[in-house]
Amino acid sequence: MIEIRHLKKSFGDTAVLKDVNAVIRKGEVVSIIGPSGTGKSTLLRCLNLLERPDEGEILVNGVSLLAPGADVAAVRRKMGMVFQHFNLFPHLTVLENITEAPRRLLKISEPEARKKAMELLKAVGLENKALALPAELSGGQQQRVAIARAMAMEPETILFDEPTSALDPTMVDEVLSVISGLAKTGMTMVIVTHEMRFARNVSSRIFFMEEGRIYEEGTPQEIFDFPKRPKTVAFIKRVDMEYFALAREDFDEIHIRARARALADRHHLSKEQREKFRSVFVSTLRDVVFPVTEKIDLYMGVSQTDEMIGFAALWDGDVADPFARVPETAEYIRANCRSASFSQTEDGRLEIKVLFDR
Ligand code: ADP
Ligand code: MG
Repeated sequence: MIEIRHLKKSFGDTAVLKDVNAVIRKGEVVSIIGPSGTGKSTLLRCLNLLERPDEGEILVNGVSLLAPGADVAAVRRKMGMVFQHFNLFPHLTVLENITEAPRRLLKISEPEARKKAMELLKAVGLENKALALPAELSGGQQQRVAIARAMAMEPETILFDEPTSALDPTMVDEVLSVISGLAKTGMTMVIVTHEMRFARNVSSRIFFMEEGRIYEEGTPQEIFDFPKRPKTVAFIKRVDMEYFALAREDFDEIHIRARARALADRHHLSKEQREKFRSVFVSTLRDVVFPVTEKIDLYMGVSQTDEMIGFAALWDGDVADPFARVPETAEYIRANCRSASFSQTEDGRLEIKVLFDR
């Protein structure tokens, strides 16, 4: 129902969305996760035209939102949005906040708008707050009102931009439970969130955003349990990671050592752990990887969720196991780490991954 093609958006010289492509089907619940500053809010704001994309296409039910003459107001009515900071009108009561837009934009009569608003307030557990002002409510209650307000426009899709991140922790669950309830009604929803457990439970798909793109997407199980690409792994497993682009003939060993040492210091690795890592690392690069390729992308990291240290080298080349060429070195490496594997990634690159117990 929503198709995003080659969407691009820059602010001045900063390219925020570099090439976003996605399809969101009717009734789907998609959570967008990823580090801050990667364009998640910008993507949502482009979807309901609060920002104008520079390039690309957004189609809703096959109709282009960006074509000249597109009815922007109609797009916004069909695409509700719930913001981090509620954005309720402070001088209007809860009831008036909910009835204002339907009366003004949908030309619904006052009694009908009130009746609908009371039903929605009941659904979010706030029917007894209809006449309160926003300031008289807790943050969690205000956000539930904001959700009822978005629903009052009878949108086809609701976009949530970090709906719980401005809340006191004690109020996060009440808002998440209202959103989960809405998900079960078959409403199409796109949710930017840092609540990973919630995203896993409520979503049909997860988009991981990084580098101005949807860097990896999949089911909650694929993304949370079996993330594939390095930056997804780093984010999900909370890996503190160092990245290097290395060439066989020209790499700065002192630079790598210094960053490896800083990484080890941050995680209080023991002398034995550092020594083992260093020796396996040097053997792997010198005897296994660099004989078969001149250039690699190298990642080195410590995971905070599953107590793991490791490094990975990625390159383009022939699909032949480079460990098989040097059986004695492979044996030495494998005897000194938890696992050392060779595989091909989904996008066709070759990868050696070496992991150590923490
Ligand atoms: P996220 O929601 O993933 O944290 P945002 O979409 O809010 O990321 O922002 C992505 C980048 O775009 C940030 O570097 C931010 O500073 C920049 N940005 C967002 N909106 C604007 C704007 N209106 N003007 C200039 N820069 C912006
Ligand atoms: Mg944001």
